[in-house]
Amino acid sequence: METDFQTKMMTIEDGLDEAVKLLRQGEVVAFPTETVYGLGANALDSKACQKIFTIKGRPADNPLIVHIASVADAQKIVLEWTDAAKACAEAFWPGPLTLVLPKSEIVPDIVSAGLNTVAVRMPAHPAALELIRTAGVPLAAPSANISGKPSPTEGKHVWQDLKGRIPLVIDAGKCSVGLESTVLDLSGKIPVILRPGGVTREQLRAVLGKVEIELGVEDGREVLGQPRSPGMKYRHYAPDGEMILLKSQDQKKAEKIAEWVSHKKSGDKIALLCMEETVAMLSVQELDQIDFLFVLGSVQRPQEAASHLFGALRKCDEEKINCILAEELPEEGIGLAFMNRLKKAAGKNKFTDPEKV
Ligand code: AMP
Ligand code: MG
Repeated sequence: METDFQTKMMTIEDGLDEAVKLLRQGEVVAFPTETVYGLGANALDSKACQKIFTIKGRPADNPLIVHIASVADAQKIVLEWTDAAKACAEAFWPGPLTLVLPKSEIVPDIVSAGLNTVAVRMPAHPAALELIRTAGVPLAAPSANISGKPSPTEGKHVWQDLKGRIPLVIDAGKCSVGLESTVLDLSGKIPVILRPGGVTREQLRAVLGKVEIELGVEDGREVLGQPRSPGMKYRHYAPDGEMILLKSQDQKKAEKIAEWVSHKKSGDKIALLCMEETVAMLSVQELDQIDFLFVLGSVQRPQEAASHLFGALRKCDEEKINCILAEELPEEGIGLAFMNRLKKAAGKNKFTDPEKV
């Protein structure tokens, strides 16, 4: 792999022509979407798509989402545009919903990791739509991070991870959703949420009626065997520090935080990721012990917390935090996706007792 690119960061206005040229030459370009930044290549060019896997260090059995700019483009890469797909596209596209459908022959095997289905999404970000339209090809794009890092929600995160490895990052500041898209499998009789995301379970049920949820999604468990969403078996989004989750409904959250803080050892660096209502319950002395305080937003606006989560986790690594106390959200609406990512980030550490550390 060529690793000595002089990576450029450009706005879509300045960088569109260059991005399109690169994509047509089979190169890889990072671009903003409303969920997270994507690492895009021509989805119909298997050599270009191979570069995505190499650059990210992504396992070959984790398929890519194909980004399109019109329903007509989506119809070209699937075998059948079903009634459910039509209803979802009408209700949620452009937007943070990915549909999994049986794939047509034009989709290279590398994109679908050998599966007979393809994941397709129309992003809502104007820069992404303009890029796809002008390039004139669908763009296969996973999140533009090194595998194992939190997904990038700002151009500078992409830069930190991938500078030197790719020629161009189209930068548009912060992503509005900040968590990856909902992945919905429409290839069976009943729609199944393989990954919760920006479009909620409640919204999908309102349009489709019965919608199931893949085993392991709600409790963040690793799914053994062959999961239906291959990406879900990997431990994504893991910060370097140990994470302790604080239950949202627990009235004693502030006491718990105080207890953790009181067990702080010399050299420990503690981060607190919590809602503004919780910060208000802490004493000045307790706050003083916290090395990095990240207020995610108000419990009244969980979307705000969702959009800040990945940035906060990245910052924890930058600050070399070794203990991250993170407040949970109720698992409804966008809270389901937030908790899915938080539990994955926490891995096995989620309910550790401070006495036993
Ligand atoms: P990422 O692009 O890193 O946000 O991950 C894309 C997600 O979509 C992964 O969890 C994949 O496993 C999932 N995905 C992509 N294509 C398919 C497919 N054909 N069937 C099931 N899941 C898929
Ligand atoms: Mg990813």
